[in-house]
This record gives sequence, structure tokens and C-alpha cells, in this order.
Amino acid sequence: MWLEETITHYELTRELGKGGFATVHEARKKSDGRLVACKMIDRGKLEQENVHNHPSYGNHRYLLPSSRSTSLVERLNAELTIHHQVHHCNIVELINYFTDDKYVYLILELCSGGDLERYLKEKKSLSESETQHIVKQVVNGLVYLHNHRIIHRDIKLSNLLLTDTYEVKIADFGLAKKIQLARDQNNETMCGTPNYISPEIASRTPHSYATDVWSLGILIATLLTGHPPFDTDTVHGTLKKVTHEKYELPRTFSEEAQDLVNRTLTKKAELRPNIKEIRDHPFFSKDFSHSSQSNNYKYALWGPA
Ligand code: ADP
Repeated sequence: MWLEETITHYELTRELGKGGFATVHEARKKSDGRLVACKMIDRGKLEQENVHNHPSYGNHRYLLPSSRSTSLVERLNAELTIHHQVHHCNIVELINYFTDDKYVYLILELCSGGDLERYLKEKKSLSESETQHIVKQVVNGLVYLHNHRIIHRDIKLSNLLLTDTYEVKIADFGLAKKIQLARDQNNETMCGTPNYISPEIASRTPHSYATDVWSLGILIATLLTGHPPFDTDTVHGTLKKVTHEKYELPRTFSEEAQDLVNRTLTKKAELRPNIKEIRDHPFFSKDFSHSSQSNNYKYALWGPA
């Protein structure tokens, strides 16, 4: 249920981060003291800007009038429409949203561990054990989304947030797409971030749920090695590698990890395993507790209890 709220119901306590059009603050709800994240999106900037490749949707719970037809406004409305339908422990909860003259406010579940991009930058690369712990949760979130016919389309380190109890949550539904009809199973919009873009998007052929599986493969390889597998100095160079070059994890990684990355980075989308097959991959049931890569990551965020 959506509450009629305004920003006066919250006290902003500290800045958590900045995005393209938004600043995210930690905020305390005055009535019950609950800590949340408050994403403040600048309406002025949003309405001035325009983007090309945006999905369009029906049945919006419109927050802003879209009569001026700025596609970013439409995209935000679409994002909110999808985000408020999803409820899962591995997806950042959208608690409420409202607007005033200057900002659109998204009240989100607080993830005070920050995003995985920052986390990986500090740690350089992760053990297989820690990668298993993190990716398992992303896979659970994606199984839920795909079961609800939603493609996220922007799975990457900076859109994965950590809580203070080291849970992982999928954030940012700005590019998400809800599949409406059987005929709409493939979507041809060009979207994503170059390093995470799948071959089918790079070559602008129809794509579907398999594109999230590809991004997951990029994520796994990046966490394990510390580098995006198809990284080059140019977007063109990266897209060329994505389309034509086979990537394999170094042999120093377990057979399970190598096999998982091989499968998720299958170039032909129709041959790529679906997210449920990925969930059942042996990498996720492997016991790493006796390997040299111990489980001490549990304390990496906050220090021993
Ligand atoms: P944009 O969509 O404009 O890029 P983001 O949603 O990525 O903005 O937010 C910018 C930063 O704010 C993120 O990188 C993250 O560190 C922080 N942030 C976003 N949402 C939350 C949240 N729910 N809890 C904690 N920090 C968050």
C-alpha cells in the first residue's frame, strides 16, 4: 500500500552516493525512526534531457505528467511501475515514491554496504567462495524476475548493493522490461553498459531473458579475475570482442567456475542456459570450505563480530 508522504516525513542523515540525475541519501523516517535510502531525482534535469533507446509501457502509475513526452520521464514512470511490483529478498525494495516541485523521491530499502563496484575496487578480486556467496543471491533475484516475466537488462557491479548483513540486492530498474505477450519475447532495444552488453544486443538481433544470463557471466568473470572479460579502450573494441572472441577463465580456477563462465558466455543466446539451469549449476553447490580460498570474506565488510 502506498502512503501519502512528503519529504518532510524524513530527516536526511548523510549522502550515500550520486547518479546521473539523482543523489541518494540515508534518511530517517521521523514517525518510527526507520532508516531508509532516499533517492532524489532532479525533475528539472530529467525533463530537459532526452534519451533514445527507452522502452515504452502501458498501464503506468504515472507520477509525472508525460504530456511533454520526455522519454526520461516515461522511463522513470516505467521503472517505478516495474519496481513497485517486485518483492524479493535479493531485490532492493521500493518502499514508496512521491514528488514535489523540484524532485522525485524514491524511498528505498537501505543497503549500507554500498555497491559491488566499490567493494571489488577495494578487494581487487574475490575468491570463488565469496563469488559463490554473492552470485547465488543475484541468481535468486533473477530467477524471481524471470518468473515474473521481467528482464532486468542492466545487471552489473554498480547495480548490485550490499546490506550491512552482507546480503546482495539487485537495484535500478531503469532499463527493465516486462514481457507483455508471447510475441513480445524478444526485444530489440539497444541498452546496457558496453562491458556487460551481450552479443545479441551488440549485433542488434532480438534478445530476451538470456541477456541477463550473459551479464551474469560477465559479473562472475569480473568478480573472480578483477577485470571485465572483454574490456578494451574503446566501446567499438569491446563490442567486437563481445561478438567474436571466446573468453575462458584461467585454468587456475575450479572446473566448475570455468564451466559456469563458459556456459553463461555462450555467444548464441538460444544455446545459453536459462536462469534456472544456472541456479542448478554445480558451482553453486560446491563446498569451498576446505579449499585454500577460505570463508574469511564473511568479515571483510565489517570486521569480526
Ligand atoms: P543512478 O540510477 O542515477 O545512477 P543510483 O541509483 O545508481 O543512481 O545511485 C547512486 C549511488 O547511490 C549508488 O552507486 C549507490 O552507491 C547509492 N545507492 C543507491 N541506492 C541505494 C540504496 N538503496 N541504499 C544504499 N545506497 C544506495
